[in-house]
Amino acid sequence: VPSIDLLGYPIVVESGCLARLGSLVGACASAHRYAVVTDDNVAPRYLAPVRDALISASPRATSSDHVQTVVIPPGEEHKTREQWAAITDALLATGCGRDTTIVAVGGGVVGDLAGFVAATYMRGIPVVQVPTTLLAMVDASVGGKTAVDTPAGKNTVGAFHPPAMVVIDPATLATLPPRELRAGFAEVIKHGVIANADEIDAVVHLAPRVLDGIEVPTVLEPLIERSVRIKANVVAADEREQGLRKVLNFGHTIGHGVEAASDYTLLHGEAIAIGMVAESRLAEQAEIAEPGTASAIERVLGDVGLPTRIPREISVDRIFAAMRSDKKQRRGALEYALPKRVGEMAGESTGWGIPINDALAKSVLEELR
Ligand code: ADP
Ligand code: ZN
Repeated sequence: VPSIDLLGYPIVVESGCLARLGSLVGACASAHRYAVVTDDNVAPRYLAPVRDALISASPRATSSDHVQTVVIPPGEEHKTREQWAAITDALLATGCGRDTTIVAVGGGVVGDLAGFVAATYMRGIPVVQVPTTLLAMVDASVGGKTAVDTPAGKNTVGAFHPPAMVVIDPATLATLPPRELRAGFAEVIKHGVIANADEIDAVVHLAPRVLDGIEVPTVLEPLIERSVRIKANVVAADEREQGLRKVLNFGHTIGHGVEAASDYTLLHGEAIAIGMVAESRLAEQAEIAEPGTASAIERVLGDVGLPTRIPREISVDRIFAAMRSDKKQRRGALEYALPKRVGEMAGESTGWGIPINDALAKSVLEELR
């Protein structure tokens, strides 16, 4: 199986590969039992083929009791400790033991939740990530972060639990709502800004054609493959986010603040798009980025139809309050991952996090409302 092998687990990117999930998992993450975790939107579309593939690849293909299924309600509001407990209890009730591998089929919510269940079930069992949103394909499923949200914030309780395998079938994007697909392009663009300016051109060329239905999502396969490679290379160099992995937070210091201040009415990718515009302007005004960097990033996001301005009803004070309470922030000045230019990040000498004073950040936010 041709796969990306930079992280100690294979990442397969291949249109139509869901039909081969049984043999893929059998080759790289073989288990006595499988527990498929998915949500109510994904289940009617993909659960049957996933189950069939896992059952047919089993040595005991005559019985299906070794493939269990847990279907959870969709949406970030269900990425909770309560759902962690519900999934865990469902696995316990069906007698799943240490010989079980969890197969997470869905977007980032399913992947994060099922991954966290896997991290803690019987002190840790393998998880195979099968992302079905663009965001989860290029970002959430790769890198081993798992978590749930709490009233104190997003991803405040979790664990590093790298998957045994990641199986990406771009054909599943055909059923993803366009707004979700568009939001996923924000992270693809982020990867281009971080590591390869050519990726930006590829997104501008392909994204509108796919979003307008002129092309089918399977044309995104090479783009997804390259985007995953960029992320995997960064994670390979710094799995625990001691340094370089911080560059993946480009757009996220402000983006997380905007996302929370919108009461999560903005999708993560939409908030991160606004965050990337704000943070690239910040980088230019602090004379960290080359002139023209911010306008180039803003143009690309606009071409894809992502928001580039802060909705008027969201105040700068609320955004700042949310940024200050973000778990990633320590005492003192807020830290940012900032570009030097499109395709290269700044901040190597300071461990890739760059402190910027609040006054400058606030003036940039005011100017974007
Ligand atoms: P993200 O990956 O952006 O974190 P979620 O896990 O919240 O997102 O998924 C976004 C929404 O899309 C959810 O409502 C989920 O049920 C739905 N969804 C995920 N994958 C697909 C798909 N391939 N087709 C249709 N809907 C999907
Ligand atoms: Zn993100």
